[in-house]
Amino acid sequence: MVEANGDELAELESLDNGKPLKLAKVVDVPETVAHFRHFAGWPERVYGDVLPVHQDGMLCYTRKEPVGVCGQIIPWNFSLLMASWKLAPALAAGCTTVLKPAEQTPLSALRLGELALEAGIPPGVVNVVTGDGETGAALVDHEGVDKLAFTGSTEVGREIGSKAGRSLKRLTLELGGKSPNIILPDADLDAAVKGSFQAIYFNTGQACNAGSRLFVQRDQFDDVVSALADRAGKTRVGPGLDPATQLGPVVSAEQRQRVLSYIDAGRDQGAELVVGGGSAVVGGGPSLESDGGYFVEPTVFTATDDSLKVAREEIFGPVLVAIPYESLEEVAARANDTDYGLAAGVWTRSLTNAHRLASLLKAGSVYVNCWGEVDPGAPFGGYKASGVGREHGREGLEAYLETKTVWAKLG
Ligand code: NAP
Ligand code: MG
Repeated sequence: MVEANGDELAELESLDNGKPLKLAKVVDVPETVAHFRHFAGWPERVYGDVLPVHQDGMLCYTRKEPVGVCGQIIPWNFSLLMASWKLAPALAAGCTTVLKPAEQTPLSALRLGELALEAGIPPGVVNVVTGDGETGAALVDHEGVDKLAFTGSTEVGREIGSKAGRSLKRLTLELGGKSPNIILPDADLDAAVKGSFQAIYFNTGQACNAGSRLFVQRDQFDDVVSALADRAGKTRVGPGLDPATQLGPVVSAEQRQRVLSYIDAGRDQGAELVVGGGSAVVGGGPSLESDGGYFVEPTVFTATDDSLKVAREEIFGPVLVAIPYESLEEVAARANDTDYGLAAGVWTRSLTNAHRLASLLKAGSVYVNCWGEVDPGAPFGGYKASGVGREHGREGLEAYLETKTVWAKLG
């Protein structure tokens, strides 16, 4: 039903979030479909074990049971897709759920709720409750909720995590990132530039796994930065429903302000602005306000100081910080010098370097000669402040199951 109503869902997502309709059609909708299809296969594969315990005459077995009622809170960057990441495993495990979309982007989740009813899911199993952070907090605090699943900022994630610690609710968190993307000297540079561009500007930089810190070896640094700046300068920024748009607006005035203040901090602290840096003017209007869109130019900074705010904090907008390095060991240490650990990337033609870095980098996903690949069966989640637990596949499903051990004395 998601597939059959895909055009409508894509349009709702574009209207709510501002993302290009094309993007919603080729990414958000099909990946949502794939997620439900994947988890639709799990219910008949959820089973326990019979255990060879040491007691005589004892049957000992485990049952996998649904954890119970889930409180699921999602952000505004991929509303429909995040709803599927939450609902699909919960339903496959046999849980009921209350889903709260972000206040900026409730439409696709509401439509998905209607589709769930039309599909025959009994009323009360999938519940969509709109509201802001207060509604989210009420869900987190509710005694009837057994398990919390949250995707969003690290700040709110810490708050929810500490509450779950007190109430001992089950918990998974998918939080922010400041993911390092490393181009080694032996990389296919054209592919690396193309991939690194997508890594940061996909969804206007509003992706938790955005490749926002780009490390380039000193000898290639200027060439790579100028190729990226060239692409950024040619990118068509515009409204989501305009088919010519390559980069949509950010989600809200508040988010634009947050991104622009990071750009100011970059300038103030001495990062060099190579391209972009302002509110993009779209449609020939004299100011953004008159165009009614929250546009930000694709922006590239260069910096040599890893401690700058733009090099350390999650910006969640179309802002890249490129940083030169000398050696592989050095770049691995600098890449890991962050509170976050969601994703990391390596561009190289050397198998040895690829797997060496893949083992050194402290991140939940490492992309080699690609960026942002996902599959409903491949675990996704963060080290350190990027989260707790994993979504997708068996590990994602386990987060919605309790294990019960049954001891039966047979005589
Ligand atoms: P956020 O506050 O973490 O919002 C995420 C979700 O949590 C929303 O549904 C939000 O509701 C809800 N929420 C807010 N406060 C809550 C609380 N105390 N208890 C329970 N739920 C609560 O994120 P944001 O303010 O929209 O964005 C801020 C920054 O977060 C971004 O700049 C970005 O750095 C990061 N972010 C990360 C991701 C990600 O995918 N990891 C996604 C979005 C944003 P309302 O928004 O409706 O109030
Ligand atoms: Mg918010």
